[in-house]
Amino acid sequence: MISKPKGTLDFLPADAFKRLHIEDKLRRIASLFNYKEIRTPAFEKTELFRRGIGEETDIVSKEMYSFNDNEFTLKPEMTAPVIRAYIENSLYNVSPVQKLYYISNMFRHERPQAGRYREFSQFGAEVIGSGDYAADVDLISLGTSFLSDFGLKNLKIKINNIGNLDERRTYIADLKKYLEDYKNHLSSESHKRLFTNPLRILDSKDGKDIEIVKNAPVIFDYLGPDNKSHFGNVLKGLESMGIQYEIDYKLVRGLDYYTSTTFEIASDDLGAQNAVLGGGRYDMLVQQLGGKATPAIGFACGLERLTLVLEANKYEFPEPGNPKIYLVSAGEEAKKKVIVIANELRMKGIFCETDLLNRSIKAQMKDANRLNAGYVCVIGDDELRSGAVKIKNMAGGDETEIALDNIVNFNFI
Ligand code: ATP
Ligand code: MG
Repeated sequence: MISKPKGTLDFLPADAFKRLHIEDKLRRIASLFNYKEIRTPAFEKTELFRRGIGEETDIVSKEMYSFNDNEFTLKPEMTAPVIRAYIENSLYNVSPVQKLYYISNMFRHERPQAGRYREFSQFGAEVIGSGDYAADVDLISLGTSFLSDFGLKNLKIKINNIGNLDERRTYIADLKKYLEDYKNHLSSESHKRLFTNPLRILDSKDGKDIEIVKNAPVIFDYLGPDNKSHFGNVLKGLESMGIQYEIDYKLVRGLDYYTSTTFEIASDDLGAQNAVLGGGRYDMLVQQLGGKATPAIGFACGLERLTLVLEANKYEFPEPGNPKIYLVSAGEEAKKKVIVIANELRMKGIFCETDLLNRSIKAQMKDANRLNAGYVCVIGDDELRSGAVKIKNMAGGDETEIALDNIVNFNFI
Protein backbone atom coordinates (compact mmCIF):
# COMPACT_ATOMS: atom_id res chain seq x y z
CA MET A 1 0.00 0.00 0.00
CA ILE A 2 1.20 3.52 -0.78
CA SER A 3 0.30 6.05 1.89
CA LYS A 4 -0.09 9.80 1.55
CA PRO A 5 2.93 12.01 2.16
CA LYS A 6 3.58 13.00 5.79
CA GLY A 7 1.81 16.18 6.85
CA THR A 8 -0.90 15.99 4.18
CA LEU A 9 -4.61 15.34 4.63
CA ASP A 10 -7.25 13.34 2.80
CA PHE A 11 -10.65 14.96 2.83
CA LEU A 12 -13.02 12.02 2.72
CA PRO A 13 -16.60 12.88 1.74
CA ALA A 14 -17.77 13.74 5.28
CA ASP A 15 -14.82 16.12 5.83
CA ALA A 16 -14.96 17.52 2.32
CA PHE A 17 -18.63 18.30 2.97
CA LYS A 18 -17.70 20.28 6.10
CA ARG A 19 -15.03 22.15 4.18
CA LEU A 20 -17.50 23.00 1.42
CA HIS A 21 -19.87 24.44 4.01
CA ILE A 22 -17.08 26.55 5.51
CA GLU A 23 -16.00 27.81 2.11
CA ASP A 24 -19.57 28.69 1.09
CA LYS A 25 -19.95 30.77 4.22
CA LEU A 26 -16.60 32.50 3.74
CA ARG A 27 -17.45 33.38 0.15
CA ARG A 28 -20.83 34.75 1.13
CA ILE A 29 -19.40 36.98 3.85
CA ALA A 30 -16.48 38.14 1.69
CA SER A 31 -18.94 39.24 -0.98
CA LEU A 32 -21.05 41.15 1.57
CA PHE A 33 -17.90 43.14 2.25
CA ASN A 34 -17.31 43.51 -1.52
CA TYR A 35 -14.11 41.45 -1.57
CA LYS A 36 -13.61 39.76 -4.97
CA GLU A 37 -12.00 36.39 -5.41
CA ILE A 38 -8.52 36.05 -6.88
CA ARG A 39 -6.85 32.78 -7.94
CA THR A 40 -3.17 32.39 -8.74
CA PRO A 41 -0.96 29.44 -9.81
CA ALA A 42 -0.02 26.68 -7.35
CA PHE A 43 3.64 27.53 -7.92
CA GLU A 44 5.57 30.70 -8.59
CA LYS A 45 9.14 31.66 -9.34
CA THR A 46 11.13 31.10 -6.15
CA GLU A 47 12.48 34.64 -6.46
CA LEU A 48 8.99 36.02 -5.71
CA PHE A 49 8.98 34.48 -2.25
CA ARG A 50 12.62 35.28 -1.58
CA ARG A 51 11.97 38.93 -2.29
CA GLY A 52 8.39 39.10 -1.10
CA ILE A 53 8.69 37.25 2.21
CA GLY A 54 12.32 37.73 3.18
CA GLU A 55 15.35 35.44 3.38
CA GLU A 56 15.43 35.46 7.19
CA THR A 57 11.89 34.22 7.70
CA ASP A 58 11.14 30.63 8.71
CA ILE A 59 9.21 30.19 5.48
CA VAL A 60 12.01 31.14 3.10
CA SER A 61 14.89 29.82 5.16
CA LYS A 62 13.53 26.34 5.78
CA GLU A 63 9.94 25.69 4.77
CA MET A 64 9.78 26.03 0.99
CA TYR A 65 9.11 23.23 -1.47
CA SER A 66 11.30 24.26 -4.39
CA PHE A 67 11.95 22.32 -7.59
CA ASN A 68 13.51 22.55 -11.08
CA ASP A 69 16.87 23.62 -9.68
CA ASN A 70 15.10 25.94 -7.24
CA GLU A 71 13.56 27.93 -10.05
CA PHE A 72 9.99 27.35 -8.85
CA THR A 73 8.35 26.96 -5.44
CA LEU A 74 4.93 25.68 -4.38
CA LYS A 75 3.25 28.67 -2.80
CA PRO A 76 3.79 28.82 0.98
CA GLU A 77 1.52 31.89 1.33
CA MET A 78 -0.66 34.05 -0.88
CA THR A 79 0.24 37.67 -0.24
CA ALA A 80 3.29 37.72 -2.51
CA PRO A 81 1.44 35.96 -5.38
CA VAL A 82 -1.55 38.31 -5.02
CA ILE A 83 0.71 41.35 -5.15
CA ARG A 84 2.60 39.86 -8.10
CA ALA A 85 -0.72 39.43 -9.93
CA TYR A 86 -1.80 42.95 -8.90
CA ILE A 87 1.33 44.48 -10.43
CA GLU A 88 1.52 42.17 -13.47
CA ASN A 89 -2.12 42.85 -14.42
CA SER A 90 -2.10 46.57 -13.48
CA LEU A 91 -5.09 46.07 -11.21
CA TYR A 92 -4.59 49.64 -9.92
CA ASN A 93 -6.00 50.75 -13.29
CA VAL A 94 -9.21 48.82 -12.62
CA SER A 95 -9.95 50.66 -9.38
CA PRO A 96 -7.85 52.65 -6.90
CA VAL A 97 -8.61 50.22 -4.08
CA GLN A 98 -8.64 46.47 -4.70
CA LYS A 99 -10.38 44.30 -2.10
CA LEU A 100 -9.44 40.69 -2.84
CA TYR A 101 -9.93 37.34 -1.16
CA TYR A 102 -8.73 33.81 -1.81
CA ILE A 103 -9.26 30.26 -0.63
CA SER A 104 -6.25 28.19 -1.58
CA ASN A 105 -3.83 25.42 -0.66
CA MET A 106 -0.40 26.33 0.72
CA PHE A 107 2.73 24.22 1.06
CA ARG A 108 5.31 24.46 3.81
CA HIS A 109 7.93 21.92 4.78
CA GLU A 110 7.30 21.99 8.53
CA ARG A 111 7.34 19.40 11.27
CA PRO A 112 3.78 18.03 11.10
CA GLN A 113 1.71 18.13 14.30
CA ALA A 114 -1.89 18.89 15.30
CA GLY A 115 -2.99 21.98 13.38
CA ARG A 116 0.29 22.13 11.47
CA TYR A 117 0.54 20.42 8.11
CA ARG A 118 2.73 20.46 5.03
CA GLU A 119 -0.21 21.14 2.78
CA PHE A 120 -2.94 23.27 4.30
CA SER A 121 -5.53 25.80 3.16
CA GLN A 122 -6.00 29.43 3.89
CA PHE A 123 -8.83 31.87 3.52
CA GLY A 124 -7.29 35.29 3.22
CA ALA A 125 -8.11 38.83 2.20
CA GLU A 126 -6.10 41.83 1.05
CA VAL A 127 -6.98 45.52 0.67
CA ILE A 128 -4.52 47.06 -1.77
CA GLY A 129 -4.29 50.81 -2.42
CA SER A 130 -5.47 52.38 0.83
CA GLY A 131 -3.35 53.45 3.78
CA ASP A 132 -6.38 54.86 5.58
CA TYR A 133 -7.30 53.43 8.96
CA ALA A 134 -10.74 52.67 7.48
CA ALA A 135 -9.09 49.96 5.35
CA ASP A 136 -7.65 48.34 8.48
CA VAL A 137 -11.06 48.45 10.16
CA ASP A 138 -12.81 47.06 7.04
CA LEU A 139 -10.39 44.14 6.80
CA ILE A 140 -10.24 43.31 10.51
CA SER A 141 -14.02 43.43 10.75
CA LEU A 142 -14.23 40.95 7.85
CA GLY A 143 -11.98 38.64 9.91
CA THR A 144 -14.01 38.98 13.09
CA SER A 145 -17.36 38.82 11.26
CA PHE A 146 -16.88 35.45 9.66
CA LEU A 147 -15.56 33.98 12.89
CA SER A 148 -18.53 35.28 14.83
CA ASP A 149 -20.87 34.17 12.04
CA PHE A 150 -19.68 30.66 12.88
CA GLY A 151 -20.80 31.40 16.44
CA LEU A 152 -17.26 31.20 17.77
CA LYS A 153 -16.50 32.36 21.25
CA ASN A 154 -13.29 32.28 23.28
CA LEU A 155 -11.56 34.25 20.57
CA LYS A 156 -8.89 36.80 21.36
CA ILE A 157 -7.94 39.59 19.00
CA LYS A 158 -4.48 40.88 19.67
CA ILE A 159 -3.37 44.02 17.92
CA ASN A 160 -0.22 46.10 17.66
CA ASN A 161 1.44 48.70 15.48
CA ILE A 162 5.03 47.98 14.53
CA GLY A 163 5.68 51.35 12.90
CA ASN A 164 7.13 52.28 9.55
CA LEU A 165 10.62 51.26 8.42
CA ASP A 166 12.38 54.22 10.08
CA GLU A 167 10.54 53.82 13.37
CA ARG A 168 11.28 50.12 13.36
CA ARG A 169 14.92 50.64 12.54
CA THR A 170 15.42 52.86 15.60
CA TYR A 171 13.38 50.47 17.72
CA ILE A 172 15.26 47.39 16.53
CA ALA A 173 18.60 49.08 17.27
CA ASP A 174 17.49 49.77 20.86
CA LEU A 175 15.95 46.31 21.21
CA LYS A 176 19.20 44.74 20.06
CA LYS A 177 21.19 46.86 22.51
CA TYR A 178 18.90 45.71 25.32
CA LEU A 179 19.01 42.03 24.31
CA GLU A 180 22.78 41.96 23.87
CA ASP A 181 23.17 42.23 27.64
CA TYR A 182 21.27 38.94 27.92
CA LYS A 183 22.67 37.20 24.88
CA ASN A 184 24.15 34.31 26.85
CA HIS A 185 20.81 33.63 28.49
CA LEU A 186 18.67 33.64 25.35
CA SER A 187 17.53 30.38 23.76
CA SER A 188 19.80 29.30 20.92
CA GLU A 189 17.10 30.14 18.38
CA SER A 190 16.75 33.67 19.75
CA HIS A 191 20.50 34.02 20.01
CA LYS A 192 20.68 33.43 16.28
CA ARG A 193 17.84 35.86 15.67
CA LEU A 194 19.67 38.57 17.56
CA PHE A 195 21.75 38.90 14.41
CA THR A 196 19.19 38.01 11.76
CA ASN A 197 15.73 39.12 12.91
CA PRO A 198 15.75 40.49 16.50
CA LEU A 199 12.09 41.53 16.28
CA ARG A 200 11.10 37.88 16.17
CA ILE A 201 12.63 37.32 19.64
CA LEU A 202 9.63 39.21 20.98
CA ASP A 203 7.31 36.34 20.09
CA SER A 204 9.60 33.56 21.26
CA LYS A 205 7.73 30.84 23.11
CA ASP A 206 10.80 29.98 25.24
CA GLY A 207 10.25 30.62 28.97
CA LYS A 208 13.60 32.31 29.54
CA ASP A 209 13.24 34.48 26.46
CA ILE A 210 9.81 35.56 27.66
CA GLU A 211 11.29 36.70 31.01
CA ILE A 212 14.08 38.63 29.28
CA VAL A 213 11.71 40.29 26.82
CA LYS A 214 9.39 41.49 29.61
CA ASN A 215 11.49 44.57 30.26
CA ALA A 216 12.55 45.21 26.69
CA PRO A 217 11.84 48.57 25.06
CA VAL A 218 8.27 48.88 23.74
CA ILE A 219 7.60 49.63 20.05
CA PHE A 220 4.76 52.03 20.82
CA ASP A 221 7.24 54.51 22.33
CA TYR A 222 8.99 54.69 18.96
CA LEU A 223 5.96 55.46 16.83
CA GLY A 224 5.71 58.90 15.26
CA PRO A 225 2.47 60.96 15.38
CA ASP A 226 1.12 59.45 12.14
CA ASN A 227 1.30 55.85 13.25
CA LYS A 228 0.16 56.71 16.76
CA SER A 229 -2.96 58.37 15.39
CA HIS A 230 -3.49 55.57 12.83
CA PHE A 231 -3.29 53.01 15.64
CA GLY A 232 -5.70 55.06 17.80
CA ASN A 233 -8.19 55.37 14.93
CA VAL A 234 -8.11 51.65 14.19
CA LEU A 235 -8.76 50.86 17.86
CA LYS A 236 -11.62 53.38 18.00
CA GLY A 237 -13.11 51.88 14.84
CA LEU A 238 -13.04 48.40 16.35
CA GLU A 239 -14.54 49.67 19.61
CA SER A 240 -17.34 51.42 17.73
CA MET A 241 -18.35 48.06 16.26
CA GLY A 242 -18.15 46.32 19.62
CA ILE A 243 -15.08 44.30 18.62
CA GLN A 244 -13.04 43.49 21.68
CA TYR A 245 -9.28 43.54 21.39
CA GLU A 246 -6.18 43.35 23.47
CA ILE A 247 -3.13 45.50 22.65
CA ASP A 248 -0.02 43.33 22.51
CA TYR A 249 3.18 45.31 21.99
CA LYS A 250 5.04 42.06 21.43
CA LEU A 251 2.92 40.98 18.51
CA VAL A 252 5.22 41.03 15.51
CA ARG A 253 4.53 39.01 12.40
CA GLY A 254 7.01 36.52 11.02
CA LEU A 255 7.16 38.22 7.66
CA ASP A 256 9.55 41.09 7.01
CA TYR A 257 7.30 43.18 4.82
CA TYR A 258 4.81 43.98 7.55
CA THR A 259 4.53 47.61 8.72
CA SER A 260 2.16 49.51 11.02
CA THR A 261 -0.91 47.50 12.10
CA THR A 262 -0.41 43.82 12.98
CA PHE A 263 -3.08 41.59 14.44
CA GLU A 264 -3.85 38.03 15.29
CA ILE A 265 -6.92 36.12 16.32
CA ALA A 266 -6.32 33.20 18.61
CA SER A 267 -8.62 30.67 20.21
CA ASP A 268 -8.32 29.25 23.69
CA ASP A 269 -9.82 26.07 22.24
CA LEU A 270 -6.62 25.23 20.36
CA GLY A 271 -3.45 24.03 22.01
CA ALA A 272 -0.01 25.30 21.08
CA GLN A 273 -1.02 26.13 17.51
CA ASN A 274 -3.66 28.53 18.77
CA ALA A 275 -3.46 31.25 16.11
CA VAL A 276 -6.27 30.86 13.58
CA LEU A 277 -5.82 34.12 11.76
CA GLY A 278 -2.94 36.52 11.39
CA GLY A 279 -2.40 39.64 9.40
CA GLY A 280 -1.22 43.16 9.13
CA ARG A 281 -0.27 46.09 6.98
CA TYR A 282 2.50 45.69 4.42
CA ASP A 283 2.96 49.12 2.91
CA MET A 284 6.43 48.27 1.54
CA LEU A 285 5.64 45.10 -0.37
CA VAL A 286 4.22 46.37 -3.67
CA GLN A 287 7.27 48.56 -4.17
CA GLN A 288 9.59 45.78 -3.11
CA LEU A 289 8.11 43.55 -5.82
CA GLY A 290 8.59 46.16 -8.53
CA GLY A 291 5.32 48.11 -8.39
CA LYS A 292 4.59 51.71 -7.42
CA ALA A 293 4.59 52.50 -3.70
CA THR A 294 1.13 51.25 -2.64
CA PRO A 295 -0.15 50.75 0.90
CA ALA A 296 -1.89 47.46 1.63
CA ILE A 297 -3.19 45.28 4.43
CA GLY A 298 -4.25 41.65 4.62
CA PHE A 299 -4.84 38.57 6.73
CA ALA A 300 -4.75 34.81 6.33
CA CYS A 301 -6.76 32.24 8.24
CA GLY A 302 -5.85 28.57 8.35
CA LEU A 303 -8.91 26.49 7.42
CA GLU A 304 -7.77 23.28 9.14
CA ARG A 305 -7.27 25.22 12.38
CA LEU A 306 -10.60 26.95 11.88
CA THR A 307 -12.22 23.51 11.50
CA LEU A 308 -10.54 22.33 14.72
CA VAL A 309 -11.91 25.36 16.56
CA LEU A 310 -15.38 24.77 15.12
CA GLU A 311 -15.29 21.13 16.21
CA ALA A 312 -14.07 22.11 19.70
CA ASN A 313 -17.05 24.49 19.86
CA LYS A 314 -19.44 21.71 18.82
CA TYR A 315 -20.39 23.65 15.72
CA GLU A 316 -23.31 22.00 14.00
CA PHE A 317 -22.42 21.36 10.39
CA PRO A 318 -25.43 20.86 8.13
CA GLU A 319 -26.18 17.27 7.13
CA PRO A 320 -25.60 16.28 3.53
CA GLY A 321 -28.90 15.79 1.68
CA ASN A 322 -30.55 12.40 1.14
CA PRO A 323 -31.91 11.02 -2.13
CA LYS A 324 -35.44 12.20 -2.80
CA ILE A 325 -36.20 8.89 -4.47
CA TYR A 326 -34.60 5.47 -4.84
CA LEU A 327 -35.61 3.51 -7.94
CA VAL A 328 -35.57 -0.22 -7.22
CA SER A 329 -35.32 -2.43 -10.32
CA ALA A 330 -36.38 -6.07 -10.64
CA GLY A 331 -35.11 -7.76 -13.75
CA GLU A 332 -32.96 -6.83 -16.71
CA GLU A 333 -35.67 -4.92 -18.67
CA ALA A 334 -36.63 -2.86 -15.62
CA LYS A 335 -32.99 -2.07 -14.98
CA LYS A 336 -32.71 -0.54 -18.45
CA LYS A 337 -35.84 1.57 -17.86
CA VAL A 338 -34.60 2.67 -14.42
CA ILE A 339 -31.41 4.05 -15.96
CA VAL A 340 -33.49 6.28 -18.24
CA ILE A 341 -35.96 7.45 -15.58
CA ALA A 342 -33.15 8.16 -13.09
CA ASN A 343 -31.46 10.33 -15.66
CA GLU A 344 -34.71 12.23 -16.39
CA LEU A 345 -35.27 12.83 -12.67
CA ARG A 346 -31.73 14.13 -12.23
CA MET A 347 -32.08 16.42 -15.25
CA LYS A 348 -35.12 17.88 -13.50
CA GLY A 349 -32.98 18.55 -10.43
CA ILE A 350 -34.37 15.67 -8.37
CA PHE A 351 -31.83 13.78 -6.25
CA CYS A 352 -32.26 10.16 -7.32
CA GLU A 353 -30.28 6.98 -6.62
CA THR A 354 -30.36 3.47 -8.09
CA ASP A 355 -28.62 0.14 -7.58
CA LEU A 356 -25.28 -0.48 -9.29
CA LEU A 357 -24.62 -3.97 -7.95
CA ASN A 358 -27.43 -5.96 -9.55
CA ARG A 359 -28.80 -6.59 -6.06
CA SER A 360 -32.03 -8.33 -5.05
CA ILE A 361 -35.14 -6.20 -4.38
CA LYS A 362 -34.67 -6.77 -0.67
CA ALA A 363 -31.06 -5.62 -0.76
CA GLN A 364 -32.02 -2.56 -2.81
CA MET A 365 -34.73 -1.68 -0.27
CA LYS A 366 -32.12 -1.97 2.46
CA ASP A 367 -29.84 0.34 0.50
CA ALA A 368 -32.67 2.88 0.11
CA ASN A 369 -33.21 2.78 3.87
CA ARG A 370 -29.52 3.16 4.60
CA LEU A 371 -29.42 6.24 2.35
CA ASN A 372 -32.56 7.56 4.03
CA ALA A 373 -34.32 8.05 0.69
CA GLY A 374 -37.56 10.05 0.86
CA TYR A 375 -39.46 7.79 -1.57
CA VAL A 376 -38.96 4.37 -3.09
CA CYS A 377 -40.40 3.10 -6.36
CA VAL A 378 -40.11 -0.57 -7.38
CA ILE A 379 -40.06 -1.22 -11.13
CA GLY A 380 -40.33 -4.78 -12.43
CA ASP A 381 -41.88 -6.73 -15.31
CA ASP A 382 -45.45 -6.13 -13.97
CA GLU A 383 -44.91 -2.37 -13.89
CA LEU A 384 -43.38 -2.38 -17.36
CA ARG A 385 -46.40 -4.31 -18.66
CA SER A 386 -49.09 -2.22 -16.95
CA GLY A 387 -47.27 1.09 -17.33
CA ALA A 388 -48.18 2.05 -13.75
CA VAL A 389 -45.96 2.22 -10.63
CA LYS A 390 -46.39 2.91 -6.92
CA ILE A 391 -44.31 5.57 -5.24
CA LYS A 392 -43.94 4.90 -1.54
CA ASN A 393 -43.37 7.65 0.96
CA MET A 394 -40.80 6.17 3.34
CA ALA A 395 -41.76 8.46 6.23
CA GLY A 396 -45.51 7.75 6.31
CA GLY A 397 -45.61 4.49 4.37
CA ASP A 398 -48.45 5.65 2.09
CA GLU A 399 -48.28 4.80 -1.61
CA THR A 400 -49.34 6.80 -4.66
CA GLU A 401 -49.99 5.17 -8.00
CA ILE A 402 -48.68 7.00 -11.06
CA ALA A 403 -47.97 6.25 -14.73
CA LEU A 404 -44.45 4.91 -15.25
CA ASP A 405 -43.69 7.63 -17.78
CA ASN A 406 -44.95 10.28 -15.40
CA ILE A 407 -42.61 9.65 -12.43
CA VAL A 408 -40.64 12.77 -13.29
CA ASN A 409 -43.76 14.87 -12.69
CA PHE A 410 -44.54 13.36 -9.29
CA ASN A 411 -45.05 15.95 -6.58
CA PHE A 412 -42.14 15.10 -4.27
CA ILE A 413 -42.39 16.83 -0.90
P1 ATP B 1 2.61 29.90 13.07
O1 ATP B 1 3.20 30.88 14.02
O2 ATP B 1 1.51 29.07 13.66
O3 ATP B 1 3.64 29.09 12.34
P2 ATP B 1 2.59 31.64 10.84
O4 ATP B 1 3.05 32.93 11.37
O5 ATP B 1 3.54 30.78 10.08
O6 ATP B 1 1.88 30.78 11.98
P3 ATP B 1 0.98 32.77 8.75
O7 ATP B 1 2.03 32.60 7.75
O8 ATP B 1 0.64 34.15 9.20
O9 ATP B 1 1.26 31.86 10.02
O10 ATP B 1 -0.36 32.03 8.27
C1 ATP B 1 -1.67 32.41 8.72
C2 ATP B 1 -2.45 31.25 9.25
O11 ATP B 1 -2.28 30.09 8.44
C3 ATP B 1 -2.04 30.78 10.64
O12 ATP B 1 -2.63 31.58 11.60
C4 ATP B 1 -2.59 29.37 10.66
O13 ATP B 1 -3.98 29.36 10.94
C5 ATP B 1 -2.38 28.93 9.25
N1 ATP B 1 -1.15 28.12 9.12
C6 ATP B 1 0.13 28.53 9.00
N2 ATP B 1 0.96 27.50 8.87
C7 ATP B 1 0.19 26.38 8.91
C8 ATP B 1 0.46 24.97 8.79
N3 ATP B 1 1.68 24.50 8.61
N4 ATP B 1 -0.59 24.10 8.88
C9 ATP B 1 -1.85 24.55 9.05
N5 ATP B 1 -2.17 25.87 9.15
C10 ATP B 1 -1.16 26.77 9.07
MG1 MG C 1 4.83 29.23 10.66
